[in-house]
Amino acid sequence: MRRIETDIIVIGGGATGAGIARDVSMRGLRCVLIEKNDLASGTTGRNHGLLHSGARYAVKDLESARECIRENRILKKIARHCVEDTGGLFVTLPEDDPMYHRNLIEGCRFAGINAREITVRRALQIEPNLNPAILSALHVPDGTIDPFRLTSANALDASERGAIIMTHTRVNAIIRNGTRVEGVSCIDRKNEQLDIYGSVVINASGVWGQEICSMAGIELAMFPSKGSMLIIDYRINGVVVNRCRPPADGDIIVPGDTVSLIGTTSMEVPYEKIHDNNVTDEEIEVLLSDGEKLIPNVSRTRALRAYSGVRPLIAVSGENTGRNISRGIALIDHNTRDGLEGLITIAGGKLMTYRLMAEKATDLACRKAGVSRKCTTHKVPLPGSEKGISRRRRIKEFSGIPDSVVGSTFYRHGQRLQSIMTREKRNYRLICECEMVTEGEIEYAIKNLNVKDLVDLRRRTRIGMGPCQGELCAYRGSGLLQEYGGASPEESVELLQDFLEERWKGVRPVLWGDGLRESEFTYWIYQGLFGISRPVKIKKKRTD
Ligand SMILES: Cc1cc2nc3c(=O)[nH]c(=O)nc-3n(C[C@H](O)[C@H](O)[C@H](O)COP(=O)(O)OP(=O)(O)OC[C@H]3O[C@@H](n4cnc5c(N)ncnc54)[C@H](O)[C@@H]3O)c2cc1C
Repeated sequence: MRRIETDIIVIGGGATGAGIARDVSMRGLRCVLIEKNDLASGTTGRNHGLLHSGARYAVKDLESARECIRENRILKKIARHCVEDTGGLFVTLPEDDPMYHRNLIEGCRFAGINAREITVRRALQIEPNLNPAILSALHVPDGTIDPFRLTSANALDASERGAIIMTHTRVNAIIRNGTRVEGVSCIDRKNEQLDIYGSVVINASGVWGQEICSMAGIELAMFPSKGSMLIIDYRINGVVVNRCRPPADGDIIVPGDTVSLIGTTSMEVPYEKIHDNNVTDEEIEVLLSDGEKLIPNVSRTRALRAYSGVRPLIAVSGENTGRNISRGIALIDHNTRDGLEGLITIAGGKLMTYRLMAEKATDLACRKAGVSRKCTTHKVPLPGSEKGISRRRRIKEFSGIPDSVVGSTFYRHGQRLQSIMTREKRNYRLICECEMVTEGEIEYAIKNLNVKDLVDLRRRTRIGMGPCQGELCAYRGSGLLQEYGGASPEESVELLQDFLEERWKGVRPVLWGDGLRESEFTYWIYQGLFGISRPVKIKKKRTD
């Protein structure tokens, strides 16, 4: 059995856990982060990617709204390469209560959110695909944030500062000595046992926080609330479009990268069902029909995939009613609450407040570890977001390589472009045409960004996230995992199979029309050419 000694142990490699690992390392402490799957494979990789302005909370939850706008301004500076400053609209439809528009303006004023009333004509100029029947519109500083890039950049920064990031390693016991937590026992990808000892354990495992607490012998009740979302194959809107009414199903369309996303439903689920990421036909119908009210024709645009996530909200007595439960941050010192020293839980909040959550948890951990260094994560840019090479220099430095290829790599990795791109032809060979992912980017990700399989590679580079969902890039990617990642030929076939099955889960609920045709084609490529045939069942939903 292996044994590691460190200062702070972080359980969970979502945005919160990765943010804590970064903050802890920046304050000079040793840190080990344990993630049972991949970075951002929990709720962090299963949301809208909305960089909230706070307006969605401004009417009912002023504290969350204020947190959002503060973090919005910080993330636009420190995470520039993960953020798109699109702006957002709140639009009122004829069937909506016009009073909500007024309340929202008032709420935004109290929260310090710059919400501007604009004419319907101006709204349609900003977003020409909008429903022309809208009655009023507000412009707010919403944006979008890529959760995969954000988490990876935090983990990268932490590891460059000395933190150990262990993915595909599961915490299966908390090591206790009387009323003190001393560490965690884990099991890694190769089924090897590992014990890690540290002075503080931070439970940043999101909705799984309840399980971690029960391993420590204490109780924590989560309030799992599931939300489903639908990805549309084109970027049909340039700005975030919100419906101006109290939060409800199908009231937001968020653009991101090459696609747009309709969200979300909200459904209370029993704790035993938190792993069930199925999206039902009814949820898809609701998302399409409500999405259609904001942007007509959205339901006739090709749907790419559907997925769901579970909000890691902590149950508080008296207010546990789905959308009404607070999105506020819960920081729990289990010494104060349960008489158990050395364990902290951080949960609730949002992707958007991950940095603030990390700051709060790290402040408490530092107090326990007797360290007084202050947080600086709000000032120091993430790797890739530093000031550096200008567009003009980029074009000059990489002249001869198509600008779109250089631009895509820069879009995803920011200033790290210079560690990725070379003039060697092989380096900028396209592996994924839909998302313009090059061989150089894949090599960089495999060697530097904790990539263990093809699904991890997808989260780091967007390989297989485009219209074909991996039809032409998956097998190339699995070949590169052999070349740069040391996978054996047999392993790379297994990894390819796992990747296709993972993609299939999201494609299956939206199989009609072009999507169905493309899936059939993918099936024949992998079955016909490669003989990869774990049986799959095609469920035809619509006629086209
Ligand atoms: C439908 C939906 C839409 C949302 N939209 C937005 C949005 O647009 N903007 C926004 O700001 N927020 C949004 N959110 C909220 C946001 O996604 C979450 O608050 C945030 O991602 C939580 O991150 P986390 O790191 O705390 O948790 P997670 O991302 O869930 O991370 C926890 C990690 O812990 C790991 N883990 C669990 N158990 C163990 C174990 N035993 N050992 C090791 N590792 C373990 C898990 O694998 C997981 O990766 C949305 C949420 C949902 C559900």
